[in-house]
Amino acid sequence: MAEQDLRVVVLGAGMAGILAGIKLLERGYRDVTLYEKADRVGGTWRENTYPGLTCDVPSHHYTYSFERNPDWTRHLPPGAEIQDYFERTTAKYGLFDLIRFNEEASRAEFRDGRWHLGFKSGREDVADVLIAATGVLHKPRFPDIRGADSFNGQLFHSARWDHSVSLEGKRIGVIGNGSTGVQIISALAGKAAKLEHYQRTAQWIMPVENGYFSEEERAAFRAAMSNPAKMEEMLNTEEYMAGVERYTQAITDMESEGAREMADYCLANLENSVTDPELREQLRPDHAPLCKRLIFSPDYYQAIQHPQCALVTAGIECIEPEGIRTRDGVLHELDIIVFATGFHADCFMRPMTITGRNGADLEDLWKNRPLAYLAISMPDFPNLFMLNGPSGPVGNFSLIDIAENQWVYIEQLLDRIRSGECPELAPTREALDTYEAARVEAAKKTVWFQGGCVSWYLDKDGVPSSWPWNYNRFVELMRKPDWAAYDLPEPVATNT
Ligand code: NAP
Repeated sequence: MAEQDLRVVVLGAGMAGILAGIKLLERGYRDVTLYEKADRVGGTWRENTYPGLTCDVPSHHYTYSFERNPDWTRHLPPGAEIQDYFERTTAKYGLFDLIRFNEEASRAEFRDGRWHLGFKSGREDVADVLIAATGVLHKPRFPDIRGADSFNGQLFHSARWDHSVSLEGKRIGVIGNGSTGVQIISALAGKAAKLEHYQRTAQWIMPVENGYFSEEERAAFRAAMSNPAKMEEMLNTEEYMAGVERYTQAITDMESEGAREMADYCLANLENSVTDPELREQLRPDHAPLCKRLIFSPDYYQAIQHPQCALVTAGIECIEPEGIRTRDGVLHELDIIVFATGFHADCFMRPMTITGRNGADLEDLWKNRPLAYLAISMPDFPNLFMLNGPSGPVGNFSLIDIAENQWVYIEQLLDRIRSGECPELAPTREALDTYEAARVEAAKKTVWFQGGCVSWYLDKDGVPSSWPWNYNRFVELMRKPDWAAYDLPEPVATNT
C-alpha cells in the first residue's frame, strides 16, 4: 500500500477528533475525513451549555500542548470560551474543509481489508483506518423517577439545556449533585425565585480559586506564546503534574498521604463554610474522598446557603404535575426541573453497529463491559483505534492531555500500516485478556471500588472501568507500542 493511498476516517469532531485531524495532517496524511453528528465542532462543550458550565482543570492546562490560549479570562475555563477555543483551533488548522457535519455513523463493517461505513443520512464511505473519537459522556442518563411525564412545567437534562425557558422569577429544582449539578446551583443561586437542590449522596467538595486573569497577566501569556521557556514557567507544569500524580496516588491508595490531605482539605472547607450545623451534617459525605469524581467548587457551599436556596435530602418519591413529591410526603411546587443526573458512560461509539474481521460483533466483545487493549485497540477490529476509549484514564485532569498521549501511540500504529508492512493491525486476544485481567485486579484496589460509593466509574458488575494505575505508567505505555501484543504478519523468509 502506497503511503498516500491510506484513507483515514475520524468519527467525531470534539476535542479528540480535532486533535486527530490536526495530527493526521501534520504527519502528511492527505485523505482524511471527519464525520460529526451535529452541526458544530466541540463535542461535550457544544452539547453542554448549562448556566455555570466550567471546566475544573486550570485554564492554561486545558488546551492542546501545541496550541496554547493566552486569552482565557478566568483561572478555570468557562464552557463558552472552551467551545470558542475549539472552533478557532479547527479553523486555524484548516480542518473545516475535512469535516462533514450532520452525519451520524450508524454502522461500520470491516470487509476486504477496509472499513465500510454507513450513516443515518444514507451516505456511505470506505476507510483504511477508522479513528473513533466519539467521546465518553455524551448519552444523557434520565433517572427512572415515576411521574416525570406528568410534570406541567419545563423539564430537561443538564446536557440538553432549554435556553428558550426563562429562569426569571421561577421555582427551580435541580436533581443531582455531581460536578454539573453543583455548578448549576452556584450559577442560579440568587437568580431564581426558589432553588432546590435534590441530593441523594453528599459529595466531597474541594475549594478552588476561580478569579479573573488581569489584563497584565493575559498580556504576559500573549508575550510568552513565542517564548516556550517562559510559557513553561508560566504554566507551572511541574506543580500541576505533581498535583495530578498526588491525585492518582490517592485513587490507587486510599491510605496514602495524598488521600488524607484531600480529605482534610475538603472537610475544612465544609466546617469553615457552612454555618448551620444541621445543613453541615446533611452535606457531610459518608464515603471515602475521590470514590466519586472529586468536585472542585469555589462557591457551592455559599450558594446552597443562599436564602432562596434549599438542600433537599428527603429522597424523591415521584414527580407530579405541580412538582416533586419527596418521601416525607411533602410536595415541592416547581416551574422547572433539571435532571443533572449524568450520562451512560459505557456507550463510546454505540449505538453504532460495528462488525470486525470474520463477522466479529462489537456487542459480543463488549457484552460484559466495554473492553480495549490499553484503551485503544481491539482484537478482530483491525485498524480501528479509539481516543478516550474504554479503560482510559478519567479523573480530575485534562482529557486533552490523555488524548495527546494516546495519539503518540496511535500514530505509531498508523505508520506501521502506512508502511505497507502490516496492512491490518489489531492486538491479539491474549494481549487484551492479559491487560484486562491485570486492570480489573488493580481496579479492585482503587478507592472507586473500595471507597463505599456508587459512581459512573463502575460498570454494571460494580468494577471500576477506568485506568487503575498512576498517570506516569499511562504515559510510559503510550510512548511506544509493545509489538508483541499485536497480530503482525510473519516476516517473509529469505534465502540468503
Ligand atoms: P454524575 O457525576 O454522574 O452525577 C449524577 C448525579 O445525579 C448524582 O448526584 C446522582 O446521585 C444523581 N442522580 C442520578 N439519578 C438519580 C435519581 N434517580 N434520583 C436522585 N438523584 C439521582 O453526573 P454529572 O454531574 O453530569 O457529571 C458527570 C461527569 O461529567 C463528571 O464526573 C465529570 O467527569 C464530567 N463533568 C466535568 C465537569 C468539569 O468541570 N470538568 C463539569 C461537569 C461534568 P448519586 O450520587 O446518589 O448517585
